[in-house]
Amino acid sequence: NTFQDLGLNDDLLQAITDLGFTKPSEVQDKAIPLLLDNEGDLVALAQTGTGKTAAFGFPMLQKIDLNSRTTQGLILSPTRELCLQITNEMKLYGKYCKGLNVVAIYGGSSITEQAREVKRGAQIIVATPGRMKDMISRRLVDISKIEYAVLDEADEMLNMGFKEDITDILSYTPADKSTWLFSATMPSEVASIAKNFMHNPQEITV
Ligand code: AMP
Repeated sequence: NTFQDLGLNDDLLQAITDLGFTKPSEVQDKAIPLLLDNEGDLVALAQTGTGKTAAFGFPMLQKIDLNSRTTQGLILSPTRELCLQITNEMKLYGKYCKGLNVVAIYGGSSITEQAREVKRGAQIIVATPGRMKDMISRRLVDISKIEYAVLDEADEMLNMGFKEDITDILSYTPADKSTWLFSATMPSEVASIAKNFMHNPQEITV
């Protein structure tokens, strides 16, 4: 398969060419067509380094409405480093997506500045659970119109004790959003999140 075969638009294909990606990785091959064609949920077992950021990032970038400044995509990740890395990758992948605004929300940095960036209008927010919850409770961010929620490295987030934060955060999102869960392992805590917060998820393993 080529990236063209997967159904990605010209803005994304141009960015992919610039990045020098010659062909989709396995998780991209499996996830991208599925996410582009369906509005449902996904559970993907995939390690880091497999290209999973692009596997959820490209479909999210293609599906959001760039003419709107409403926050439509939320990506939760366990650490500040990963949050910044995903944000950076999303900006690279979306460099030709006109009007795109991706904002990172994480602890240990000015909440005022992050709130200011959110207020300018972010279609996509990449966040760590603790700071995200804090910003929601201070009403500095509105995720009530989220259409796509990604739980990245779900096993790590649960290992780090973020279960309650994650379930709290998800309770502020619409019930009919699509949830895409990525995890390297599937312990019972991850399976229970999938069971309780997702509807008949498609499953892929790489
Ligand atoms: P990830 O698993 O998302 O952390 O990605 C690991 C690395 O692989 C990142 O530096 C990506 O930029 C890169 N990458 C992702 N997809 C591809 C691809 N199809 N071809 C080559 N490199 C890729």
